[in-house]
Amino acid sequence: MHPATHPTTKRMITERLRKEWMTWPKKFAAIQRQAERMTLPNGRQKTLIRCAQCQNLFSRKDVQADHIIPVGPLASTNPGDVADFKQRLFCHVGNLQALCRDCHLSKTKMDKQIFH
Ligand SMILES: [Zn+2]
Repeated sequence: MHPATHPTTKRMITERLRKEWMTWPKKFAAIQRQAERMTLPNGRQKTLIRCAQCQNLFSRKDVQADHIIPVGPLASTNPGDVADFKQRLFCHVGNLQALCRDCHLSKTKMDKQIFH
């Protein structure tokens, strides 16, 4: 197998970009759009995030940013495909939504069935 198309390299690129995505500010801005300020019974204020799917409220740590149109896999290590993958991963904010862990997990499973 040619080194440029070796799966390990593809995985390395994907992992590096996914790591970058973890701290991408636009992602947090997208989640913030679904934030709701609540007053707790003790009078204190708390910001909760409404899941776009089940519509329940969660604390910030229990929601994740989801690509409405899934990113899908990196096709190859060719610069064109990497650029394409980056564009899908670091997408327009309109393609991002906040989902709770359970909804994100079930959607990711469904996306994988469609796209693989
Ligand atoms: Zn949910």
